[in-house]
Amino acid sequence: MKKALITGYRGQDGAYLSRFLLEKGYEVCGADIPGDAGAWRLRELGIEGRVREVALDLLDEPGICAALASVRPDEIYNFAAQSFVLTSFTRPVLTAEVNAVGVARLLEGVRKTCPQARFFQASTAELFGSVGSAQKNETTDFHPRSPYAVSKLYAHWLTVNYRQTQNIYACNGILFNHESPLRGEEFVTRKIASAAARIGRGLQEKVAVGNLDALRDWGYAREYVDAMWRVLQQPAADDYILATGEVHSVRDFIGTVFAAAGVGLEWKGAGLEEKGVDAATGRVRVEVSKEFYRPADVKELVGDAAKAKRVLGWEPKTKFEELARIMVEAELNRLDGKKVRL
Ligand code: NAP
Repeated sequence: MKKALITGYRGQDGAYLSRFLLEKGYEVCGADIPGDAGAWRLRELGIEGRVREVALDLLDEPGICAALASVRPDEIYNFAAQSFVLTSFTRPVLTAEVNAVGVARLLEGVRKTCPQARFFQASTAELFGSVGSAQKNETTDFHPRSPYAVSKLYAHWLTVNYRQTQNIYACNGILFNHESPLRGEEFVTRKIASAAARIGRGLQEKVAVGNLDALRDWGYAREYVDAMWRVLQQPAADDYILATGEVHSVRDFIGTVFAAAGVGLEWKGAGLEEKGVDAATGRVRVEVSKEFYRPADVKELVGDAAKAKRVLGWEPKTKFEELARIMVEAELNRLDGKKVRL
């Protein structure tokens, strides 16, 4: 039986990967910061109690070594992060401590205690920033535009460095946005899906969002964890873009999600005055608020996952409209107290 250690296992990807690996017969050890934030994800997936909990905080170097020595994992998936880009502008030091130095602590722990373990780092499309070609691939330059992206850039190159200099099987998955009903509520896709369902049911009047023009490549998290596992099954360690190759604006996402919730929207006004208006009733359902704007945003992120398709045999199947439908359906089921399809 293979043993996997997942850091940040109560987050969106950690929960999906836990279920995926349990189904493959792995012993899954999960590490997260103390508390029960995110435990609802394991409950909804029906795997509560099936992951062996391990105390491991990326801020605690001796604790990391002790955890790795006690688990002796075959595979390590590092998802633990301060993962919300907007927060990184107000909490840059914490973001760097967890996302950058935390990965140095973890890789040092691997080198000292379990150098045979295979290591996956959750890298990010945010590394690319707004410069360069439209479709990003593994050779595109990085121009990070947030403390989050800068911290992840350090972790990305450190992962490459441990592969090159320490003989560690260490890989980066350069992850474009991937969403699901298990996304944290602060993230725009989940916030919109939740609001659309509630507005559709008459439980909420409107929702405020940030930059409607941001263009993103949105995939389904459930499918992305399969790709992450495949990354660690290859004969040689390498880095891969994981993306759908399709790009849509936040405005498109809102319109699609609201339509799936039975609310047709019309857009009126521009800039901070732009509003999404219920076409049937004329009521304002979506407003723009400066509060949710990043000090520096990335205009467009779309990935070219041809290498993942060629080498890993992985291709995302769930595209934008289906993803929007899955997320709204989940929110409606939650409102109705029904089981969520995940
Ligand atoms: P997520 O839901 O925010 O999960 C991150 C997890 O890490 C949370 O459970 C968090 O706990 C935990 N954590 C925070 N600080 C920690 C620490 N010091 N030690 C141990 N655990 C800690 O993120 P996700 O969406 O699953 O994403 C997984 C990874 O992929 C993250 O590294 C993220 O940056 C990266 N990524 C995600 C996307 C995406 O679209 N989802 C795209 C690119 C890259 P709390 O919730 O209690 O803080």
